[in-house]
Amino acid sequence: MGTTLVLGGGFGGISAATELKRLLGKEHEVVLVDRAERFSMGLRKLWELVGHATIAEGSRSREALAAHGVRVVRGEIESIDPSEREAVVDGVTLGGDYLVIALGAVSRGDLVPGLVEHGHDIWTTSGIPGAAQALRELEEGRVVVLVAGAPYPCPPAPFECAFHVDEHLRARGLRDRVEIDVVTVQPILMPNAGPEGSAWMAAKLAERGISQRAAVKLSHVEAGRVVLEDGEIPFDLLLAVPPHRVPHVVAASGLTGEHGWIAVDRGTLATSYANVYAVGDVTLIPLANGLPLPKAGVTAELEGLRVARAIAADVRGEPEPEPFAGIATCFVEMGQEVAARIDAEFFAEPGPRIEIAAPSPALAAEKRAFERERLARWFGDYPVE
Ligand SMILES: Cc1cc2nc3c(=O)[nH]c(=O)nc-3n(C[C@H](O)[C@H](O)[C@H](O)COP(=O)(O)OP(=O)(O)OC[C@H]3O[C@@H](n4cnc5c(N)ncnc54)[C@H](O)[C@@H]3O)c2cc1C
Repeated sequence: MGTTLVLGGGFGGISAATELKRLLGKEHEVVLVDRAERFSMGLRKLWELVGHATIAEGSRSREALAAHGVRVVRGEIESIDPSEREAVVDGVTLGGDYLVIALGAVSRGDLVPGLVEHGHDIWTTSGIPGAAQALRELEEGRVVVLVAGAPYPCPPAPFECAFHVDEHLRARGLRDRVEIDVVTVQPILMPNAGPEGSAWMAAKLAERGISQRAAVKLSHVEAGRVVLEDGEIPFDLLLAVPPHRVPHVVAASGLTGEHGWIAVDRGTLATSYANVYAVGDVTLIPLANGLPLPKAGVTAELEGLRVARAIAADVRGEPEPEPFAGIATCFVEMGQEVAARIDAEFFAEPGPRIEIAAPSPALAAEKRAFERERLARWFGDYPVE
């Protein structure tokens, strides 16, 4: 009986682990390691920020993955040896015939001086309660949603945040007393959606009176102001999407390329080490336009499925499965009851082919179903809407 060791139990790791067990059952052992007992989706952070729902309501214990036959190990991955397909977890060495690295990206507010002291990191769960309280207490002034580094997980989510904050302030009757600005270091709002997709987003923001500014050159953050190389942006509340990097244990493993992320074959998700794969936010997959494949739960999940199918085929001596096609769909929330949908063929030439479906309540329901279906499939429950 062979073993696959899956490092990280987010979208990518869970989909790889559960699909492998579905395909191979008892003939193959799957061990999944994560430091955290519970899983929840990033989308919940924005819901909790504006008080629609809590992160806790959408969080599930990874122990439930045992029902799929996955052996769940809770612990800190201290080192990874890709040539031996081993990892040290809380001092104990674990290994496998196959290794899947799905350790995500880490928010690094410390890379922008002053950001942690004066802003709220809304890309980490721990940053949400403080940000939510500050938002609740805000009566007037300016909210700045700042994208302080790229690539970052879920490219449309900072704009979703601005729409949610807009709706929240309208509900409190304060919108005419509070300005909302979205500010990004990216050259345009959503580079992988191209100039048309970015113009579409700019127009939607403008309809709601949200101003936006791209291509800022960020220097640092001080109390009440974001300092740029050529000016400053004052704020009363700073909601920040910090720069992201691979976890320290990945950087120390020798697996990262010059760009600082794990380089993989875009069709197979194979690294340069035999039988070692990497999926999700921890990787960087360059597209034809030179930009990276967006970091997102949906893509991490699809990559995890592809890796599981490849391992299962290898174990059984069957032909390789179809390559990962880079086709994904995501929903852009524009408030609690309305969302748009972006369908993307990311591997298209000369750049991603994007279609945007107009915002509607039906698409907001689809987004909620996106979470519900995965919690059901992975953790075996159907939370009430
Ligand atoms: C506000 C927000 C909204 C979002 N909305 C969406 C959305 O609507 N749709 C969508 O598709 N994506 C969304 N995303 C993006 C999505 O959350 C990520 O892209 C996705 O989680 C990436 O999955 P992953 O498996 O690569 O990594 P992760 O889900 O980050 O999982 C990595 C896991 O590795 C574990 N880990 C890391 N280091 C160690 C270590 N040393 N030892 C032990 N364990 C370790 C972590 O605990 C974590 O559980 C959103 C993100 C945010 C922040």
